[in-house]
Amino acid sequence: MATITNHMPTAELQALDAAHHVHPFSTQADLEKSGVRVITGAKGVWLTDSEGSEILDAMAGLWCVNIGYGRDELADVAARQMRELPYYNTFFMTSHVPVIALSAKLAELAPGDLNHTFFASSGSEANDTNLRLVRTYWGEKGKPSKQVIISRWNAYHGSSVGSASLGGMKGMHAQGGLPIPGIHYINQPDWWSEGGDMSPEDFGLARAQELEQAIIDLGEDNVAAFIAEPIQGAGGVIIPPETYWPEIQRICDKYEILLIADEVICGFGRTGSWFGSQTVGIRPDIMTIAKGLSSGYQPIGGSILSDEVAAVIGATEFNHGYTYSGHPVASAVALENLRILEEEKIVDTLRDDTGPYLKAKFEEMAEHPMVGEAKIIGAMGSLALTPDKGARAKFAADAGTVGYMVRERCFANNLVMRHVGDRMIISPPLTITKGEIDTLIARAWQSLDEGMANVKDAGLFV
Ligand SMILES: *Cc1c(COP(=O)(O)O)cnc(C)c1O
Repeated sequence: MATITNHMPTAELQALDAAHHVHPFSTQADLEKSGVRVITGAKGVWLTDSEGSEILDAMAGLWCVNIGYGRDELADVAARQMRELPYYNTFFMTSHVPVIALSAKLAELAPGDLNHTFFASSGSEANDTNLRLVRTYWGEKGKPSKQVIISRWNAYHGSSVGSASLGGMKGMHAQGGLPIPGIHYINQPDWWSEGGDMSPEDFGLARAQELEQAIIDLGEDNVAAFIAEPIQGAGGVIIPPETYWPEIQRICDKYEILLIADEVICGFGRTGSWFGSQTVGIRPDIMTIAKGLSSGYQPIGGSILSDEVAAVIGATEFNHGYTYSGHPVASAVALENLRILEEEKIVDTLRDDTGPYLKAKFEEMAEHPMVGEAKIIGAMGSLALTPDKGARAKFAADAGTVGYMVRERCFANNLVMRHVGDRMIISPPLTITKGEIDTLIARAWQSLDEGMANVKDAGLFV
């Protein structure tokens, strides 16, 4: 029997990968030319690749490894749970101890009366649940016309048909005939790119008031819910002006619609509070969770419901569920992850100590000649690249051309930093130390310098 090991030459691994592995969000044909980077191990914030490089992962995988890599406790819990009860379902009035314990723990951690969790294996699945759930909720309340869900352009809510339709990524909608009917989009609160001559405060209010206008235009009797990430992640870490969320909450309070906070990235400490809703001061009826729930050690997500939403949904049979809803191994690992986050005071340390240090260093990068805006909240930050800060100008190339050039330098400098268009974003493990923050910032500056030289050579810095 052939086995594939970490010791196989990189070129062979790359060839097998290109031949047989179809990658998400990648141009497969490019992989055959350049070859993938093969990650073989990880510890803390550090990845190791098949060439032995030590790479600082400033994205925590895909925004998910909140407690850092290599925690044996989670491996031990998973092995123990697999021996005791590797699988059982939660359909048809059955349950098991790990999912009971996790549900109770989430009720304790989540704010307000968000006390009831419906489980999934991912954020996409959880948002699919939300889509069916809010429409079912209004049907049960005798208001079946309330079906439309309002979302935002450039929001990311997942990649399944339902969740990608809830999202506002036009490139995703273009593939596969999306969006499904009954989703309405308003504009995002991205002042840097779209604010024009308005002050950030006025712009934040104006963008929030688009929600009110949409409710009026669609008719309150036709609107089920508004869904949004407290801080947009995949859209480029868009930190809204401070006027935005209070106005959204006012509008949700005024009209009879549900507020769904997609906490898949913001949840479990990312913004310096347990949930992004607490950081931006909102009271959602439903929260979507995934990613940091297990720090990515197991695939698990869910929807946390308020007492009222749970009571309405609970009065009838909700014909919805996944084979792996509340999977025992994933639940046990998530519970252990939450224990570590809590007992090691990881969220408090980020809020009070490492977070402010990271913020000071990160925001200094606004002094770089190619960085117009450097903003960070907790451990999610974004640099807006520009050839002209004063004018908040775009480059004379397709959006993403310059971002890609800087990302390429990050890659060469053993720093994982992503680009979204011409923004560079970070979302490191919450456990990153001050020394590691210094390394991150030094590598980012170097990559910006080298990237800018290449941008100049390409004639794009004009
Ligand atoms: C990643 C993400 C999702 C989708 O989660 P998956 O586990 O990839 O399905 C949904 N919402 C937000 C805000 C996300 O960042």
